[in-house]
Amino acid sequence: MKILKNIALAPLTTLGIGGPARWFVEATSEAEIAEACAWARERRVPLFVLGGGSNVLVADAGFDGLALHVAIQGMELGGMELEGEVLRAAAGEAWDDCVEQALRADCAGLECLAGIPGTVGGTPVQNVGAYGQEVASVIKRVRAFDRAALEFVEFANAECGFAYRRSRFNTTERGRYVVTRVDYRLRRHGAPTLIYAELKAHFSGREGMPSLAEVAETVRGIRQNKGMLLVEGDPDCRSAGSFFKNPSVASAVAERVKQIAAGAGVALRMFPQEGGLVKIPAAWLIEQAGFRKGYAMGAAGISSRHTLALVNRGGARAEEIVALAEQIRAAVEAQFSIRLETEPEMVGF
Ligand SMILES: Cc1cc2nc3c(=O)[nH]c(=O)nc-3n(C[C@H](O)[C@H](O)[C@H](O)COP(=O)(O)OP(=O)(O)OC[C@H]3O[C@@H](n4cnc5c(N)ncnc54)[C@H](O)[C@@H]3O)c2cc1C
Repeated sequence: MKILKNIALAPLTTLGIGGPARWFVEATSEAEIAEACAWARERRVPLFVLGGGSNVLVADAGFDGLALHVAIQGMELGGMELEGEVLRAAAGEAWDDCVEQALRADCAGLECLAGIPGTVGGTPVQNVGAYGQEVASVIKRVRAFDRAALEFVEFANAECGFAYRRSRFNTTERGRYVVTRVDYRLRRHGAPTLIYAELKAHFSGREGMPSLAEVAETVRGIRQNKGMLLVEGDPDCRSAGSFFKNPSVASAVAERVKQIAAGAGVALRMFPQEGGLVKIPAAWLIEQAGFRKGYAMGAAGISSRHTLALVNRGGARAEEIVALAEQIRAAVEAQFSIRLETEPEMVGF
């Protein structure tokens, strides 16, 4: 294990923003992860776990601690092997390669999650989801290093505390676990999930069920149109994906928003959640608060194709992204009394 000093973090993130990590280590095995955690613990140095850097905003001053880059590949842990219907993937594998592996074996469960950037290890952290699927619905087990107990632990799905963009790994026990492996339970020769309106519309009128690969390809196409696929040279994908979560609000609040939308002639789609809460689209709130796609504030801006994605327009500083996010948040709060929650992890703030 080699601990490096003053390593630039910006190139390791999709936003391309932020200062260096005081210390940096790339771990390619579970043993190295345990060693890196022990190193930080002995020196009382804060530790941050970095995967693909697609859901983080690093502060301009960088991170005054140890950035632990998880790079365990499938082969080192026995590979991303298909055990019947369980796809076992090491945390450092690229997520989209994992999706491809499932598609090649004609296993259903990940097809709508094609094209999401980042690593396998990042998927349980915020329970990634898109186009009608969430990883929570297929995760069987998560293996991780427990930094508090200094041992490897395994969590069954029910122990992960999954909810919309949430898990035990990014809420109650944020930072405690370093995920080293995830097992996904898939359905061999299963039918694709076609519940998302845009996807359904794409395949409507056609005879027979599309294949899993066709659905994944369509998802990638939709993502690319929205600047939500990492494509070299596309300025709209210099983002961390959605910067804000869709807020879950009390039904009375949702009713008020619905009435405002009806007044504007919009039939707003809302999604009932557990506990009587209702999830409403943050993009609509932001647009109503006066922010359009392509809005710019210095070198920070809103993607020209996706209202929820804040982008680095070129040479942006973290403080510019934060200022833009705060401007948007304040405007939404003033109009709707709803405070938008940030989705990416803020590192070094
Ligand atoms: C263009 C674009 C589109 C996106 N679209 C979507 C989308 O459709 N749906 C969606 O849910 N997300 C989306 N995202 C966000 C992001 O891709 C996901 O959240 C992804 O899972 C993050 O994985 P990562 O490896 O890049 O994690 P990082 O960004 O490196 O880290 C994110 C968080 O996870 C933690 N983490 C990462 N790896 C580990 C590990 N091995 N152990 C413990 N903690 C870890 C980090 O500490 C941090 O808290 C998008 C991002 C971009 C840039």
